[in-house]
Amino acid sequence: MRDFRAELEKRREQGLYRWRRQVETPQQPDMVVDGRPVLSFCSNDYLGLANDPDAIAAARDALPETGLGGGASHLICGHHSAHHRLEETLARFTGRESALFFSTGYMANMGVISALAGRGDTIFSDRLNHASLIDGCILSRATVKRYPHCDMTALEEQLATTDGHKLVVTDGVFSMDGDVAPLPEMAALCRKHDALLVVDDAHGFGCVGPEGRGSVAHFGLGSEDVPIVIGTLGKAFGTSGAFVAGSAMMVDYLVQKARTYIYTTAMPPAVALASCTSVRLVKQADDRREHLARLINRFRREAQALGYTLMPSDTPIQPILLGDAWSALALSKALEGRGIWVTAIRPPTVPEGESRLRVTFSASHTEAHLDKLLTALGEAQQELPGHAA
Ligand code: PMP
Repeated sequence: MRDFRAELEKRREQGLYRWRRQVETPQQPDMVVDGRPVLSFCSNDYLGLANDPDAIAAARDALPETGLGGGASHLICGHHSAHHRLEETLARFTGRESALFFSTGYMANMGVISALAGRGDTIFSDRLNHASLIDGCILSRATVKRYPHCDMTALEEQLATTDGHKLVVTDGVFSMDGDVAPLPEMAALCRKHDALLVVDDAHGFGCVGPEGRGSVAHFGLGSEDVPIVIGTLGKAFGTSGAFVAGSAMMVDYLVQKARTYIYTTAMPPAVALASCTSVRLVKQADDRREHLARLINRFRREAQALGYTLMPSDTPIQPILLGDAWSALALSKALEGRGIWVTAIRPPTVPEGESRLRVTFSASHTEAHLDKLLTALGEAQQELPGHAA
């Protein structure tokens, strides 16, 4: 048997051990965690909808109508009219013919990639793609070629020298860096080399593009450029679940083939109805997005003036690059001592030597919250000379 205990110990020694905290409040900036008040800068609730009264009311009002559990998978007897309504809402929101509601973004990515590519096909995947895309590639049994992050010359070279069916997969907004994939160039390359482009816009929907319609819309692209988009509802939408949007034929194909759609219990229908409300709120959230942009700009200006290294991102994902895992842990701990919660992100989530604090902003943060973060960062830096900046 493998020595699991020794592996755990090794993780601890390398500063890579992970642990969980118990949250005792809804997702919001001021939280109680493990019995202590903290100001959080690490949630993906970018628009502050996870605790929105209208979305909560939608879920509460739905419960007596729909009951609680999904009951069975969609193809047995779990496909509720609430799921169908959400799918129609999401198809309209994404400007696609059709959408398919999955239980999580992780499952959507695994299901879509393994349904659309198989043995003998080739998948081209950005080196910084999310774990669920990577796992989808593995599950598909296709040949996988990883290209350096957003390197279009490398991608073109790989596409040009590969025969057979080709699938290109990318995050829209990269989850740990916050930058946006060069989708116009990718779409052009896919057209030229007859490849199918799939974009996972988990962090783009709600945050970028007109009315929060995501990275594809942000670039003025449409379904002819990016035939399949995937989004999660657990981030800017503030609920749970995920969706894949594309042509009616493609959704039909996924219903037949995506194993993570077929072989799992349908989400509680009340979550689907709450998500319909969230989609409406996301569209109407221009004031929240403007407020977010102001917070992000100020954070970037002032954190860099303190000497911190930020990454080229103008989305709510604003990582502070530290390098080694211990430095990231030390800064996270120093902030925690000042009542601020920002989780350290370490390998294997990010490459070796690129540990960071992934600071994320929400429209629920105020300028006063940002004051506190910047003050704490300033103080922490003096405590950790040579580490933080
Ligand atoms: N894609 C990306 C880019 C993500 O960051 C995440 C979540 N961290 C997912 C997919 C998975 O989505 P979900 O949380 O709904 O499973």
